[in-house]
Amino acid sequence: MGNEAKTYDAIIVGAGTSGSCVASALSAAGLRCLILEAGKRFARDTYPRAELDANSQLYWGGGIELNTDADIGFLRARVVGGGSIVNQALMDRFDDVALDSWRQRSGVPFFTGEAMAPWYDKAESELCLQYIPTEYRNRNAQIFAEGFAANGYVCAPLRRAQRDCRFQDGNDCIVCLSGCPIDSKQSMPVTVLRRALEAGAELRAETEVLQVAEVDGGVTVTARSAGNGEETYRAGALVLAGGAIGTSSLLLRSGFAARLPLLGRNFYSHPQYMHLAVYDDPVDAHKGPMQSLKSADPNFRRYGFKLENVYAPPVAIAMLLPGFGHAHLERMRRLRQFACIEVSVRDQNPGQVRVDGRGQTVLEKQLDGEDRARRDRGFAAVRNIFLATGAREIVEGSFGISLHLMGGCNMGTDPGTSVVSPEFKLHGCKRIYATDGSIFPDAPGINPALTIMALSWRAGEQIVKDLRA
Ligand SMILES: Cc1cc2nc3c(=O)[nH]c(=O)nc-3n(C[C@H](O)[C@H](O)[C@H](O)COP(=O)(O)OP(=O)(O)OC[C@H]3O[C@@H](n4cnc5c(N)ncnc54)[C@H](O)[C@@H]3O)c2cc1C
Repeated sequence: MGNEAKTYDAIIVGAGTSGSCVASALSAAGLRCLILEAGKRFARDTYPRAELDANSQLYWGGGIELNTDADIGFLRARVVGGGSIVNQALMDRFDDVALDSWRQRSGVPFFTGEAMAPWYDKAESELCLQYIPTEYRNRNAQIFAEGFAANGYVCAPLRRAQRDCRFQDGNDCIVCLSGCPIDSKQSMPVTVLRRALEAGAELRAETEVLQVAEVDGGVTVTARSAGNGEETYRAGALVLAGGAIGTSSLLLRSGFAARLPLLGRNFYSHPQYMHLAVYDDPVDAHKGPMQSLKSADPNFRRYGFKLENVYAPPVAIAMLLPGFGHAHLERMRRLRQFACIEVSVRDQNPGQVRVDGRGQTVLEKQLDGEDRARRDRGFAAVRNIFLATGAREIVEGSFGISLHLMGGCNMGTDPGTSVVSPEFKLHGCKRIYATDGSIFPDAPGINPALTIMALSWRAGEQIVKDLRA
């Protein structure tokens, strides 16, 4: 038996980037919200500091989930704060290339720079945004800048959601990939989610939602938590913010496939390939800000890829290096000499999120010929950069890593080609909304988090209006 006596205006599944914004919008309007989050709640001094522990405690699938071909790994956060805890906190608005494509594909009129501007303004006003000061750029960033200049490519500084990283005290921001130890990173628990909780939203961590349904006059949600077993909750509305894979698979498990034939389809992920190059002297790519610069070259955008100066902690680097045994060890001994650049592909061949007969999530995602051509053009640019800056050896990454999980419940005006309406409701449902990265119509080729926030604020306003009608 559940606690059916306690009802809410809205239940929000997922305390990540989107769920935190919607909860904040709804609770600021005086609505009673319950947020259910599968992951644990940590504070700055309790995040697991060892890389392997962080992987297993902050991510679904023990750290990584694979596609059916086992050549792309998906990183999907499972923690209060969702992706905002583990991400690199790069915050970009979409350009006209991305928004025009979305508008044409979806028929949704508000996918324009002008119509999105107030929502981007709102999202940005909730965070402190900064560029990495030039004096703190590490050698890996310098190699990136020098290689771009030598080849006539255009690069630009990265804008991060951070308040005071205290680089002068020797802080390494690679550590913040497992939860920021000084609360500088503007993750949801220190910004938007904190304000939602202060305004009265209720949060239940370590509570995984198993089934959702629309019933007469409201919704029911069945969830399982470590302490309380299975419970059923009721509310006037349900907001799905479990991320692209989480929202799609929850709806599939809840039997929505029959009425939403495109559910789980149109799944994109910006597959990323990390390339390493060995230099004679230490690069120390893990020191200071591990990211400062990105490509801003119009040709790269046209060709469907972008580059970022980046690095990863040692376990991740060990997984990406080819070979085994002595040869692998010899490469790992040169960890401090590696420079690293990542190619991110604007994928145009969508995959699919499925649920198998045992209820397990299955991720089908392949690169087609055009996607591989985009990736290979990126590889060529990285080779040019490394060769122009004195690299001794180049190790090309062949394993794709997907951090930007998008689609599965794509938004559109036509129920025949989409899953979610421009009012953020599932087609055919009155009280179930989706607001997270699952609603993206295609892959923008740009960091998605700021746009997820902007859309979630817009959705929040819509939901408040609907609930008050
Ligand atoms: C390592 C890494 C680096 C990244 N770097 C950047 C970056 O620099 N810039 C950028 O723009 N983007 C970046 N991203 C992507 C960005 O973080 C995500 O796009 C964004 O957080 C997605 O927001 P969301 O609300 O869709 O989902 P999330 O933020 O992932 O939130 C979903 C939440 O729902 C919970 N959930 C799912 N299913 C259930 C369920 N059934 N019951 C209860 N809870 C559930 C999950 O545990 C999770 O906490 C990065 C991602 C990763 C993993």
